[in-house]
Amino acid sequence: MAAAPSFAEMEYRRVPLEEMKSQHEALRQQLHSADANGIVEIARKWTQLRSRYETMSTLNQVRYTIDTRDTVVKEERKFLDDQEPTIEEWNTVMRRALLAHPHRASLEKQFGRQFISSMETAVQTFDPKIAEHLKKQSDLSMQYTDLIASARIEFEGKTYNLSGLEQFLHDERREIRHQAAFKRYEFFKTHGAELDRIYDELVKIRHAMAKELGYPNFIPLAYKLLFRTDYGPNDVAVLREEVRKHVVPLATRWRERQRQLLGVDELCWWDLKLLDGKPAPRPQGDADTIIQNTARMYNELSPQTGEFFDMMRKRELFDLVTKEGKAGGGYCTSFSDFGVPFVFSNFNGTKGDVEVMTHECGHAFQCWSSRNQPLLEYRWPTYEACEIHSMGMEFLTYPWMELFFGAAAERFRLVHMIESVVFLPYGCAVDEFQHFVYSNPDCGPEARKKEWSTLEKKYLPWVNYGDLEYASKGGFWQGQLHIYNAPFYYIDYVLAQTCALQIWKKSRENRERALQDYMAICPPGGSQSFLQLVKTGGLRNPFEPGVLSGIVAEAEGYVGKFL
Ligand code: ZN
Repeated sequence: MAAAPSFAEMEYRRVPLEEMKSQHEALRQQLHSADANGIVEIARKWTQLRSRYETMSTLNQVRYTIDTRDTVVKEERKFLDDQEPTIEEWNTVMRRALLAHPHRASLEKQFGRQFISSMETAVQTFDPKIAEHLKKQSDLSMQYTDLIASARIEFEGKTYNLSGLEQFLHDERREIRHQAAFKRYEFFKTHGAELDRIYDELVKIRHAMAKELGYPNFIPLAYKLLFRTDYGPNDVAVLREEVRKHVVPLATRWRERQRQLLGVDELCWWDLKLLDGKPAPRPQGDADTIIQNTARMYNELSPQTGEFFDMMRKRELFDLVTKEGKAGGGYCTSFSDFGVPFVFSNFNGTKGDVEVMTHECGHAFQCWSSRNQPLLEYRWPTYEACEIHSMGMEFLTYPWMELFFGAAAERFRLVHMIESVVFLPYGCAVDEFQHFVYSNPDCGPEARKKEWSTLEKKYLPWVNYGDLEYASKGGFWQGQLHIYNAPFYYIDYVLAQTCALQIWKKSRENRERALQDYMAICPPGGSQSFLQLVKTGGLRNPFEPGVLSGIVAEAEGYVGKFL
């Protein structure tokens, strides 16, 4: 591993494709005569090869998102994207060769079962014969992204896109919220036929891809694409039923309390964001203040998190404040050759700024803790496990919220807790919807909307769209990006939140213990599967009936203190 420079000092150098090709070929040649030690050595060299390429590609990606107007960086991005399938094909060939090797047992002995599982899963989900389908799928995803991004909505004398309009759904004035909601669904109504067409084509292409690879439909393929090696659709169905049984009634009670606090006869869709009847609290001070307070928080939390955050600051592994030309959103990524993570966000003065410092830094802390893992596959765990680290950190940092919100800290925690719990039924609705869609790939747009409405009644019985015609006829889900572009991913947030809430409950009973257990699940990274990590962290399996009832009782008591 190279000495870790600061972000600004990291130098981008294009890795020549020809050179990579000959290195891949050389490794494959050596595999023919490799013995038990040789195969381990080859796996290490292959990791180095991929790590070098991935580090450069990520460096370019980060610089591109920091300034999307930089034409040199953008051109290089295009170049890298174009050669990606070729490199993936070489990696697939390598995985197949390693798996078929007479000494593959020594790979398992050296690196553990998880390396074999991840390679097996990767080769079962890719074949050159689906390359055309994959290309079509990404074209359709882009059509969805572009269509949503194309929204130009006139509101209060200004023009907004859909995410810009979002702020008015948090406004104190009910009429403004109603108008903003109305404008939002006017957009969806206007583009409804197009949104239906894109989704219909996506579903058909995913079904066809699954058939090509020998699966009965897209569901088992999707689970493999998400590297879900130790649970399946039946386990997920048990969890959804638990949410319906235990969380929906509590969320319904909270919604009724919200209606009372707002002083309205009927709680409508445009009222939902004001969880305690008021707009969310805002952090005090500017970005520098938030960073200084974050440093203090992580140093007080534990020596490990303190060391981590000081390192992030020293090496400037952040780009936090919103500015012209910067891409939207927030994320955490990593430069594997340097063993360091990077956090990107768009601070805009809302409570989200503080949540970036807890959520994304939770991801970053885990990644940094896994920096000595020997394989690229092990630097990050699977997606649902990743979110335990981030969402868990949001709860572990509750006692420091006074630093950011002062007297409004209790309200911040209250709103955060309600948000975390009421999210669970929504996440289940999104998940059950997709199981329906891909079990019935030919059912068509009308049947899909009908199913969504049925699921809303099951999981979100308080939803009242009033005069929002398009939404009341089952069109709401078309605004959920994951349903189009990241199929079956959404339940990962429910799984992780079920674990993160356990961390919160434990931290109220025994703070030291909760912190110790959290620290235990960071260094293993991807070397353990989801359920193994859950065990390592002393957490209960979220697929076991009964896990949620205890959490729900604790959360209800906690929120009841404020509401
Ligand atoms: Zn996350």
